[in-house]
This record gives sequence, C-alpha cells and structure tokens, in this order.
Amino acid sequence: MSESRERREFCPECGETVPPRSEPLPGEPRDRDRLLCDDCYFETFDLVDAPERVAVRVCSQCGAVHRGNQWVDVGARDYTDVAVEAVTQALGVHLDAREVSWGVEPEQVDETTIRMHCRFDGIVRETAVVEETTVPVKIARETCKRCGRIAGGSYAATVQVRAAGRTPTTEERASAVEIAREVVREREDAGDREAFLTEVDRTDDGPNVKLSTTKLGGRVADRIVQQLGGSVSDSATLVTEDGDGNEVYRVTYSVRLPRFREGDVIDPEPADLDAVEGSGPVLVRSVGDAVSGVRLDSGEAFSTDADLSEARQLTHVDDADTVTVVTVEDDHAVQVLDPETFAARTVPNPSFLTAEELTEGAELPAVKVDGEVLLLPERETE
Ligand SMILES: [Zn+2]
Ligand SMILES: [Zn+2]
Repeated sequence: MSESRERREFCPECGETVPPRSEPLPGEPRDRDRLLCDDCYFETFDLVDAPERVAVRVCSQCGAVHRGNQWVDVGARDYTDVAVEAVTQALGVHLDAREVSWGVEPEQVDETTIRMHCRFDGIVRETAVVEETTVPVKIARETCKRCGRIAGGSYAATVQVRAAGRTPTTEERASAVEIAREVVREREDAGDREAFLTEVDRTDDGPNVKLSTTKLGGRVADRIVQQLGGSVSDSATLVTEDGDGNEVYRVTYSVRLPRFREGDVIDPEPADLDAVEGSGPVLVRSVGDAVSGVRLDSGEAFSTDADLSEARQLTHVDDADTVTVVTVEDDHAVQVLDPETFAARTVPNPSFLTAEELTEGAELPAVKVDGEVLLLPERETE
C-alpha cells in the first residue's frame, strides 16, 4: 500500500477538517476512531463497557467462586465482596481514557441479587468524562466439586496410625490427626483445592485418616513419622470409584509408631544385646534407628539397634513420684524415703546424680519398677 504524505486530514464521519494526527507507530493499528473529530468521537464514545448483568456461581458450603471453568477459593467475607470482584472483572474501560478512577455502591436487593451502582471518571481527548452505570449481579448458590466430593465421602488414601507392640497413646492419636489437618491446611493455603480430609475413623487400634488424594496421604504419613517417629509402608488396591465409574487406585499408608517413646522406662532384655554393657531398666531418651538412653540403676549409657520386640515397657517418666534423700551410703547406694510407705530404704545410686543433687533432704524424681525405687535424672522430668 502506497502511503500518502498529505498532512491535511478530514473526519471520516462528517468531513470536518481535523488537526493532523500523529502517524501510528509501526505495528500500531490504524484506528478509524483516531481520525474522527471530537463531536463525532464523543457521539459514540462509551467510557465503560459493562455487561447487562453478571452471574456469579458461589459454593454455599465453602464460599468458593466459579471463575473461568474452575472453582477458586477467594477468601471473600460475604457475597458483596464476591459481587464487587465479579463486576470489576466484567467491566472494560476504554483504552483511550487516562486517569480513570471509579467507585461502586452495592445495593442488596434480596439475598442473591446485588445491584452495583458504578461511577467512572476519566480523561479522554483532554476532556473530563463521567459515566454511571448499574450492573445487577445474581448470585447462584451451588455446591462446588470439592464440597460435592467431601459430601460423597470420596477418598483415595487412608493413613492408618498404629504402634509396634502396643497401641498408640491418646496424645499420639490426637497428634497424628492434628498433623493430618495441618498438612491439609498447608495444601489449601497453597491453593490446592484437591486436598481435603474426608473422615477420621477412630478405631481402638489407632486412627484411620481418609484423605482425598494418594499424594496427600503420602505427605501426611511422612509428616507423622517425622514428628512421632516410626516407619511407614504403603499398599495400593484397585477400586472402582462410584462417582464416574472410573477405576482408580486407593493407597493405604500404614504408619507404625516406634515400640518405645522418649521417657519410657524399659527392660531391654531378653533382646540379644551382646554389644551392650550392663543390665537393668533403661530410661529411653531417643528412638531413632537405634534406641538409646541410660541405665537407671548404674547411670551407664545404653544404645542398641538390636531388635527390641521382646523388650518390655515398665513405666514412663510421666508417672514419676518424688522421693526425699535421707543419706548417701556410698557410690552405689543412697537411702531415700519410699514415696508410698515413707519408710527409709536403700536404692541404687546412679552416676548421673551429682553430689549437689544428693544432699540430705533433697527431693528427687523416681519411678517404682517391680517394687524397686529407681532415681531419675532430674532434667528428664522437668
Ligand atoms: Zn466528525
Ligand atoms: Zn465448596
């Protein structure tokens, strides 16, 4: 196309002479509107392109909003927030306008209808322009896909929390469920709408936590082991999902909490403990790959990775009593008042107690095991 260099220009609508416009930049479209005189331009000018009405689909369960082709958590306080947001998205402001500002006044018509009175100010062709428009917003209360799945009891993973050779304690059961809820919250906060907890089945053996995806189940199981110790194994089963009839896998994560907990007093024998010195009850201090702690009668360190499945839990430091020191007999024996009978009796003097701790009249924590009183390191029970 040959380019005319003539600088006189005319309004293509009414033929009025118009001041020459600057040539469009390379690549910029040659816009007919640019050539119009001001009268013809404002004749058809709309500052705002507003739809006649806006429909918003909101989940009545969780407040998620349907946007594009998916449900989105918007964290809106009420439907007015949602309506303002939807109108904002639906409005288009003319590209020629500068310094545009706008305000919106929502008018609640009924529970699901809000009229949005909008006022726009802007500058176009050096002229201040004002436009007012009212957009009715209709809220459709629905159930989002996730809430529908939760209501339908859908799940893809079960985390079974059990313990080796015992049942999990009340605290361990509660922590495991809380950890599951925490992981779900984290995923939700990260925008993952597929992450939810379907159900907690509290069995006598420990909780079964049903979760929406296998990945989420894995995360929860790993976090429980990270925080409570133990190990996890998983097994998949092919099931037929009732919803869409698709075949899907469900995965069961079996968490096995360690046989012993920190603070347990155990009898490690008759495990094969060739490599371990000494004998007698052990206060457990850590339960990682190896169990380690201290012998309560001598104060010797104890550590083994031997199989302790035959070992016995005797008591826990939470059940400790306080005994009063009467006198120190020697390096191996100390006389204390029995916490139950208040009779003076001689008990082992473990090396972890200092001379300072063993002064006459001092009160020390102790556990009673098979009728024998065993003194505890003081800091363990604080
Ligand atoms: Zn004109
Ligand atoms: Zn929902």
